[in-house]
Amino acid sequence: MAISKLNSWLSIAANSDFSIYNIPFGIFSNGSQSRVGAAIGEFVIDLPALFDAGLISETVGRAVLDTDFLNPLMNLGKPATRKLRNRIKELLTAGNIELENHPNKINILIPVFDCKMHLPVNVGDYTDFYSSIEHATNVGIMFRDPANALLPNWKHLPVGYHGRSSSIVVSGTPVRRPKGQTKADDQPLPSFAPSRLLDFELETAFITCRGNALGESITTAEADNYIWGMVLFNDWSARDIQKWEYVPLGPFLAKNFASSVSPWVVFMDALEPFRVKGPEQQPEVLPYLKYEGEKNIDLNLEVYIKPENTEPQRVTASNFKYMYWNMNQQLAHQTVNGCNIRTGDLYGSGTISGPEKGSYGSMLEITWSGKNPIQMNDGSERKFIQDNDTVIFKGWCEKDGVRVGFGELRNKVLGAY
Ligand code: MN
Repeated sequence: MAISKLNSWLSIAANSDFSIYNIPFGIFSNGSQSRVGAAIGEFVIDLPALFDAGLISETVGRAVLDTDFLNPLMNLGKPATRKLRNRIKELLTAGNIELENHPNKINILIPVFDCKMHLPVNVGDYTDFYSSIEHATNVGIMFRDPANALLPNWKHLPVGYHGRSSSIVVSGTPVRRPKGQTKADDQPLPSFAPSRLLDFELETAFITCRGNALGESITTAEADNYIWGMVLFNDWSARDIQKWEYVPLGPFLAKNFASSVSPWVVFMDALEPFRVKGPEQQPEVLPYLKYEGEKNIDLNLEVYIKPENTEPQRVTASNFKYMYWNMNQQLAHQTVNGCNIRTGDLYGSGTISGPEKGSYGSMLEITWSGKNPIQMNDGSERKFIQDNDTVIFKGWCEKDGVRVGFGELRNKVLGAY
């Protein structure tokens, strides 16, 4: 898809994730109560203030903007959100003076450094998938059988599990190292201690803006009407707890102590120009999983580890385009049995690993279960994440000089209580 060029009267750095092509939504505060904002360059647009200036009153009601979560806005659906976002773009476009010359402009465009970002969505239900063939293969080789790394179901359905929404936190929230049961291979009994193998999982997540009735399903074609936007997602994982507890029902306490999201939800319209074809699916999938069009996204992803008092160091660079199962297939599979979804549900992609070393999406894979530690610039090494490390995710699309990004997802790990 060709991108028509836009210029803004506002000065926006060429490498800003929050270009005029993006306009993501989030929840912010600057001393007063939290409310809906949109990001542009180094500013947050205060949307209730923009409404009060009379500049978006033709789009949505004020109540959905003056609220703690994006759910009421999302619940209006994609056409209403699109109208609001397109109007904001129009107000920012060079030549439009409605906002540029507005007497209250200084109270509408708030410097991002004066803003605190909050959890953008009140997440009802949370599902995590396992949709990267490279990740599933790596884990299968390490934990089971290199000759049969993928389990027999993997290429026939997007494997997933229901996670826990109460512990989903926003970027900036410290993550406390969990304690739990682990069992060493050479010990007869389990012991209880802080996890020694704390890991990140490089993921994205999509958020839904409407529900289906219990008993009804959503097709891959209909899925686009339900998928409102995306965030970066860190599915924090304690590998030693996971290894002991996960048989036979899957992850439990190894995953539900924290999962973190980036604060700005990028609306799907902003990502459309970066759509690419997904990998060929062989064997052929069942009819309900077939889809039309380009459903993957060329979205660059990076992870940095920042040890205390040193600079961040990049430990991996991957891309969302590698995903074997796309979001439409995931949502169709989630609902094919009649399971109902709701506005504000969150769907993690699963760890996004690329085909090469250097593009793996977890420390488990990067260090191959601790066998090949990463050398850090400060002389230390990492097999997994240590206390006081900050883990930073970045994600952005770029094409023909147009950049649409997610900003950062960053969380510092604190020692166990
Ligand atoms: Mn995961």
